[in-house]
Amino acid sequence: VEFKSFALSKALIERIDALGYRHPTAVQQASIPIILDGADLQAHAKTGSGKTAAFALPLLHLMENNETTYDAREARCLVLVPTRELAQQVADSFMSYGAGLNGVIKVRAVFGGVSVNEQMQVLGRGVDVLVATPGRLLDLVKQNAVQLSKIQHLVLDEADRMLNLGFQEELAELLDMLPSQKQTLFFSATFPEDVAELSHRLLQAPQVVSV
Ligand code: AMP
Repeated sequence: VEFKSFALSKALIERIDALGYRHPTAVQQASIPIILDGADLQAHAKTGSGKTAAFALPLLHLMENNETTYDAREARCLVLVPTRELAQQVADSFMSYGAGLNGVIKVRAVFGGVSVNEQMQVLGRGVDVLVATPGRLLDLVKQNAVQLSKIQHLVLDEADRMLNLGFQEELAELLDMLPSQKQTLFFSATFPEDVAELSHRLLQAPQVVSV
């Protein structure tokens, strides 16, 4: 299988090629068509599986081809992650894959442990894809730095680690603020009972990918 066989825009295929990705990984092969279809997805995938590109590439494609207009502070895609390192990494991946797209898609990462003010200023310059750790995002939402009411795509990345780190309450509070009509993608390396329960609660008629 080649990346060309997916219904991804030419600019994305060219970027992938320039990055030296020759063939999609197993999780990419299985997930990209499902996400492009607009379906919800539950994916069992570990770090190193290529899971970031598995969701970032089709989401960039869908956003690039969506004609709806959004206010600067209205995020369209929310990626929740357990740690600041992962937030930065996922945001970097979105920026790198999206570098060749016509419409500029603004990617922002917010996480705890650094100044809130700086992140508020960055969000004030606009945001399309917001990659965030739950606690800091909740602070920023409460300060009106970003709007979550127009989210069309939600990704939970490394959901098991998010629950292990004790983010249950923040997650519940955030998830309540999102529109009920959206695409949800749930990635986790393991599915113990609490993770499976969260996934079941969030996903509507999901496609399941296990690699
Ligand atoms: P991830 O599992 O998303 O953390 O990705 C692990 C690493 O694999 C990252 O450094 C990616 O840049 C790289 N990668 C992702 N997809 C591919 C691919 N199809 N071919 C080669 N490298 C890839």
